[in-house]
Amino acid sequence: MTVLSPSGEPVKVAMSVDDLFQWKGMPYPESHPPARTAQLLIDAFANHGHPPVYSFSSTAPVDDEPAFAEVFDQWVDAGHHVGNHTHYHASLNWVKPSVYIDDIKRSEDVIGSYIERAPSKYFRYCMDMWGNSPEKTAQVQAWLAKAGYLAAPLSYWFYDAQFAVPYLRALHNKDEGVRNWILDKFVETAIDQFKRQVNLSYQALGRQQVHIGLLHGTPVTGDAADRVLAGLKELGVEFVTLEEAMADPANVIPPNTVTPMFRNFTQKWAEIENVAVEGIPPREAIAEVRAVIPVEGLDEPTIFGAMFGNMAAGLEGCVPDFDNFDW
Ligand SMILES: [Zn+2]
Repeated sequence: MTVLSPSGEPVKVAMSVDDLFQWKGMPYPESHPPARTAQLLIDAFANHGHPPVYSFSSTAPVDDEPAFAEVFDQWVDAGHHVGNHTHYHASLNWVKPSVYIDDIKRSEDVIGSYIERAPSKYFRYCMDMWGNSPEKTAQVQAWLAKAGYLAAPLSYWFYDAQFAVPYLRALHNKDEGVRNWILDKFVETAIDQFKRQVNLSYQALGRQQVHIGLLHGTPVTGDAADRVLAGLKELGVEFVTLEEAMADPANVIPPNTVTPMFRNFTQKWAEIENVAVEGIPPREAIAEVRAVIPVEGLDEPTIFGAMFGNMAAGLEGCVPDFDNFDW
């Protein structure tokens, strides 16, 4: 076992799962309904001794498929917890704060009973985007304070959502070779990004923080989660609760920067401390994965375009901006 941290201590990580039934407009392959992916994630966490995991899921997919909500019973029955992640999953960059706040309340109408059962009341900004002006962030943060929510950010992610559409194509074409190649690339990218982001955080903060990691409720993540967790364990990771991670000031005090870009807290801490960021995002890996087995209509611009269209359709004045994503 390699202990990764420059401090020589094991790195503590609270993993979290966003979007247990993906996003409105993202197709599901018949072989991988949400319940299967949720079970794969539950099994992987149990297998690696991860304490209860919070899931943050936009709830708009339930509008079309009410049965999807059963995934929350499955999740909670396995001992895990539920937080709030809005209904339509728009970025705060794209809407007025009042529209965003109404969307947080809209999700409470669907899953409020699950949120109330969790030991802590957490909210996660969609795409960890905290808004493109300090005033917007302040307005939403003030509302969260009144409503009793604490925003749980991310300090480690590996762009797993960018593997979702290529994996759909591999499943669609029943191409086992490509499917396995994507899974291998997925695990390799997860571990490479973990090493980079743990190191970046250490350089920016000058100490070893407790990390908050991200997995999504997509078929590819479900199929690879066990291997990712095993890989993290190999690096000496100790899995902890989100509550323990949220006792670390680096996760509670927002880094003082405003950006419309897709950036987690580690990237933001690095930015304000002028620490050079290398290989994040993993542009080469994303480009390679994006290019595998083209299938008409199963490409990222088409599918994510429809998804963002659905996000916008439900929210007054919502204008998605693809330039917020730079890979
Ligand atoms: Zn999300």
